[in-house]
Amino acid sequence: MTSDSTDTSVVVIGGGQAGLSVSYYLKRLGLDPGNEFVVLDRGPGSGGAWQFRWDALRIGSAHRINDLPGLDALGLSFETADRTQPAKDVVADYYERYERFYDFQVVRPAAVTQVVNAGDRMLVTFSDGEGEQTVSTDVVINATGTWGSPFIPWYPGRDSFAGRHVHTAEYADAADFAGKNVVVVGGGTSAIGFLLELESVAAETTWVSRRPIEFLEDGELNLEARASAVAMQDEAARAGKALPSIVSGTGVPRTRRIQAGIDRGVLTARPMFSSIEPDGVRWSNGAFQEADVIIWSTGFRPELRHLAPLKLREKEGGIMVANGTSWKEPRIFFAGYGPQASTIGANRAGRTVARQAIATLSRLKRQER
Ligand code: FAD
Repeated sequence: MTSDSTDTSVVVIGGGQAGLSVSYYLKRLGLDPGNEFVVLDRGPGSGGAWQFRWDALRIGSAHRINDLPGLDALGLSFETADRTQPAKDVVADYYERYERFYDFQVVRPAAVTQVVNAGDRMLVTFSDGEGEQTVSTDVVINATGTWGSPFIPWYPGRDSFAGRHVHTAEYADAADFAGKNVVVVGGGTSAIGFLLELESVAAETTWVSRRPIEFLEDGELNLEARASAVAMQDEAARAGKALPSIVSGTGVPRTRRIQAGIDRGVLTARPMFSSIEPDGVRWSNGAFQEADVIIWSTGFRPELRHLAPLKLREKEGGIMVANGTSWKEPRIFFAGYGPQASTIGANRAGRTVARQAIATLSRLKRQER
């Protein structure tokens, strides 16, 4: 795509870890960035979902962040990144330098609103904040992550709550909850991080989880459990089912910080409340807990609204994806979807998906002749 043309061979939707990893391999396999492939990202800046994560999150306090392929050529690695600065800033800075170094020419802001099958071409429409534009392409690689699709489960009375519902995606700073009674829902590291941060700020915190928390004896994620959680995601993606939660498979690593929180009694999860009332939550034994805020660390769903015109969704609730390729539409690929939804998975997806996209382009060219 050039400034006076809206034709390209590959459109990559999303410029997070998955989209950038795909871009790296597309370029390595010979495609010219900004011309033969175009990256459209909603932005506003570099960093994918990381740019929106809460202020207190540091590299190392979340799980491991794997380096993008070829990041070492810039003399950078997340292994040695600054752990005193917010992860959101460090990641955004690294990604921005990476995009510039490899000259990916990511288009921002470019919020894709729909992808339409127009016979031998796919039409990708995006808004740049001022108006809509459409790019015509052979192949689409969707790398839109999940951050834009926060999930809050329904509980009786949810909409009657007079306090604030806050999802992980909206949580910025513990100071916003000073003096409040806060109920935190969720069994993963985000919920735990919030509880530890809120301990000295909120009037009271209460932790609830939909399933018992499995604290792993090792400080690190259990690799076997991680592999089996990824396998569950893969199985669901291949069957076109809604994706299961990753945390349900991996457990929570018992780091020193988490163990100290358990010892202080901050990290004791109660089973889920049975309903929500205007001023708090009702436990199944009838007791009542006052709450000003309910923080929902209940995960995300893949962000796929813009693909609705392609009718990829199965009646089982998901889309059928195997090795990053849509089974229904072989010109649509997914990077960072399901089993690839981690920084390491996104990296691997980059290589696999870029190779398949190039193979599809060659096949389409042969068919044209
Ligand atoms: P994203 O980083 O979300 O990037 C997607 C990009 O697509 C964004 O830039 C977005 O703006 C863009 N986009 C979305 N929709 C559109 C659209 N319609 N049009 C145009 N652009 C669009 N993984 C780890 O490995 N280590 C961790 O420590 C870790 N911590 C996590 C903490 C939290 C709270 C969460 C929710 C996830 C965490 N993950 C972690 C998993 C995370 O999903 C991956 O790390 C990885 O960053 C995801 O990369 P991605 O490129 O798939 O998605």
